[in-house]
Amino acid sequence: MVDYLIVGAGLYGATFARTMTDHGKTCLVIDKRSHIAGNVFSKTVDGIEVHQYGPHIFHTNSEMIWDHVRQFATFNDYRHKVLSDVNGDKYSFPINLKTLESLWGEMSDAELLKKFESVKSAHTHNETLEDWAIAEVGEEIYRKFIYGYTKKQWGTEPANLPRSIITRIPVRNNRDDNYHAARFSGIPVDGYTSMVANMLDGIRVILDADYLENRSFWDSWARTVVYTGPVDEFFDYEHGEMKWRSLNFQHRMLKTPQFQDVAQVNHPDEHVPYTRSIEHKHFVPSTMGDTQHTVVTLEYPQKYIRGLEKYYPVCDDEQRSIYEAYRKIIPSNFIFGGRLATYRYYDMDQVIASALSDARNRLC
Ligand code: FAD
Repeated sequence: MVDYLIVGAGLYGATFARTMTDHGKTCLVIDKRSHIAGNVFSKTVDGIEVHQYGPHIFHTNSEMIWDHVRQFATFNDYRHKVLSDVNGDKYSFPINLKTLESLWGEMSDAELLKKFESVKSAHTHNETLEDWAIAEVGEEIYRKFIYGYTKKQWGTEPANLPRSIITRIPVRNNRDDNYHAARFSGIPVDGYTSMVANMLDGIRVILDADYLENRSFWDSWARTVVYTGPVDEFFDYEHGEMKWRSLNFQHRMLKTPQFQDVAQVNHPDEHVPYTRSIEHKHFVPSTMGDTQHTVVTLEYPQKYIRGLEKYYPVCDDEQRSIYEAYRKIIPSNFIFGGRLATYRYYDMDQVIASALSDARNRLC
């Protein structure tokens, strides 16, 4: 018997297990995958650290979380830069004064801002994502940078999407082209998998073990179960299946030292089937010159069907109410945590903060 059976060796599970172990509790961590680290899993491919489930940049405003993660990894000071490729022209992204200058020609900052304000005011805010986005940035910018990307990402016309699907369009009223406006940002230089392995140091981990395939066996191991898998699967879809968007990542090794100028290029054009190209070398700039080859990942959004990976929750009202119905029937000896069990998008710092808080609440 252990104090906690933790289902899922992602960031939530690893953080919870570490905290409890450090407070004298016994934990067993299982994961149905053949590796630890959940979706932040990365592995070295011919000398280049490749993020297997999408590019992951650690960024946070919380000094506490920044100090916490640096116990388990050495971080570089990587700041994420993104370009948007519109019909072959590359624009600075998120939208900032450099983007506006590329679009509208050389003007003073004040003139650019004035013009930006005038295009925005043409629309009033509305419930659909499309109307809201046009009100935020104007028709031209919406069509160039947001329409095609959003349509591919969600598999439907943005005019059919509720405004709540995206919480904000990153826009800067200055020339700051850092993608994240966070106080702290970086990438673990030895990779995320190594960081999570350090979190799990000394804790028993069993891989290729699907909790749902043998619940009674696994439940017999512990008084309390921390479950980080999908909430609807746990309840055998009793209140319905929750909607997700999935992604397909095509990793390519290219015989060229560098493929693109920055780690991430967005591809909002409708005729390009992928949304982002990621060149992993850029995440550790000090290693850019180390290899004559490079690894590029193309990200293709796809409809979620059972068996595929779940990436983005479709957080509309209907899904929220299904989640609420599940939340109310969670058994008292279970803790549901992380992105799949709480049906929400978390950044890494948020999921770590939530695991720390849940663990500390148990210790009080
Ligand atoms: P997961 O990492 O999904 O871990 C859950 C684990 O549970 C998995 O390993 C799974 O195999 C296991 N599991 C599930 N069911 C079972 C079962 N029945 N039995 C056993 N094991 C099971 N955040 C950032 O801060 N910066 C970024 O740049 C960033 N980029 C992202 C890019 C993409 C494409 C996506 C989708 C997310 C990104 N995130 C980013 C968010 C980040 O991935 C999450 O915050 C983090 O992975 C959540 O950790 P988790 O432990 O909740 O879930």
